Parts: sequence; C-alpha cells; structure tokens
Amino acid sequence: MAPRIFVGDDVTAFAAGAEYRLPPRAARHVAQALRMRIGDALALFTGAGGEYAATLAHIDRRDVVVRVERHDPIERESTHAPTLVQSLIAAEMMDLVVRKAVELGAAAIVPVQAARSQGIAADRAGRRVAHWRQIAIAACEQCGRNRIPDVSPIVTFDEWSDARAGAAAILDLDAKRSLAAQTASAPPRAIAVGPEGGFTADEVQRATSRGAVAVHLGRRVLRAETAAIAALATLDAIAGDAK
Ligand code: SAH
Repeated sequence: MAPRIFVGDDVTAFAAGAEYRLPPRAARHVAQALRMRIGDALALFTGAGGEYAATLAHIDRRDVVVRVERHDPIERESTHAPTLVQSLIAAEMMDLVVRKAVELGAAAIVPVQAARSQGIAADRAGRRVAHWRQIAIAACEQCGRNRIPDVSPIVTFDEWSDARAGAAAILDLDAKRSLAAQTASAPPRAIAVGPEGGFTADEVQRATSRGAVAVHLGRRVLRAETAAIAALATLDAIAGDAK
C-alpha cells in the first residue's frame, strides 16, 4: 500500500491535476522519514470519504508538493463496528488501546472515568484527548481507514451509562453470557472495558439496569488493554468484516 497521509478536513475537495503542498508534519514524514522521491505514489485522505491517489511532484528544503491524480471512493470500515467505551487506564496502555481499537475498526472511542480509574487532572484532560485524536489519525494512516473515528471528551462512567448504556455490552468477569454468544444474536453497539482494578459492582448494575448486557471473555482475567483488543477482535470476527 502506498504511504497514506491524512491532510485534514480543511481540504474538502481536490480536483484531478491539482497540486497540493503537504502540511509540515506530513512533509517531514515523506521527505525525511520515508525518503520518497519525485514520481513516487502516495494516497491522501481528508476524513470526508475515500482517498486520493497522488504522486510526489516537487521536493525542496521547504516544501513537498504532490499532484492529485484521482479520487477513489474506497472505504475500509467494518460492519457493526462498535463504540469502545474505555475506562481510563495507565497512559501508555490507553495510547495502545486507542491505536489498536482504530485498527480493529472501532467506530468511536469514549474515554470514561470509572470509579477505580486512574484520574486525569481537569487541566490535562483536553491535552490527553487531543493526543488520542492524533494517535487515531496515525492509526488510520497505517491501517487504511479513510474515516477518522471520533475520540470524545472524557466523561464519567455514570454520565456515559445514564445516557448511552442501552445496546452496550459491559465486560464483566462474572457475567453469565459470553461476548461471542451475545454478538452472534445481537451485536452490541458499544463495548465497555473496565480499568485495571475492574468495574465496581455498582457500575455493572447501573449499566445493566439501563439496558447494557454483561458479558465475559472466557475464564482468564485479561489485563484491561488485552480485554479491549480481544473484545473488538471477537466482535469483528463474528459480526464485522473479519467474518
Ligand atoms: N482486578 C480486576 C480485574 C480487572 S481486568 C478484578 O479482579 O476484578 C480489567 C477489565 O478488563 C475488567 O474490568 C473487565 O472489563 C475486563 N476483563 C478482563 N478479563 C475479562 C474477562 N475474562 N471477561 C470479561 N471482562 C474481562
């Protein structure tokens, strides 16, 4: 696959033959990290749908300019892709989960502050969300998705469950039903994953009383990041485009 570059939603339409100066981050990536040459192929995507085949037209110390060849309306979204409702966990594991969730097709990511989550100071929360959005973009560049899944602002678990727990599955070690069985009958629209210390019994109760179904992933206790990845892969294999 040709290198793929997100060019931001400031660009709404490219015409065939148009020349486009890459933004600085992308220009450095193409010229310095990838050492691409004039005439090399790349793909640009804006997040508004499909991708643009392009070739490198001009490189100098300041600028990297590409020529847009044509629009390809291809999408690589999965079917029944769920929203990942991820309790805040250690920073580097949170980054890992965001990256893997995008690769596995998650439609959106909602970071939640669960009762046992590691807290994030209010003044840092906006920066963390912006950081996760950058990770989501990089993952889309890598995996071929042309739609950037939304990473929403951090909400408390209760805010999420009161408004949106219906049609969700909450991962709970003590659940009677497996995520696989649930997905085969009614694929959940969202999957909620607990923090390192697990969800509290109150949280599970609150979500299920609002329509969520509690599901397990087998007998072993997975780490939170493993549980998120395993759940998304299970859903993709049973109801998504990995079927
Ligand atoms: N120390 C906690 C375990 C937390 S594991 C305890 O003993 O309860 C972190 C999160 O991953 C859990 O809250 C749950 O959402 C999910 N998880 C891990 N393994 C799971 C499994 N086998 N089934 C369902 N959920 C699991």
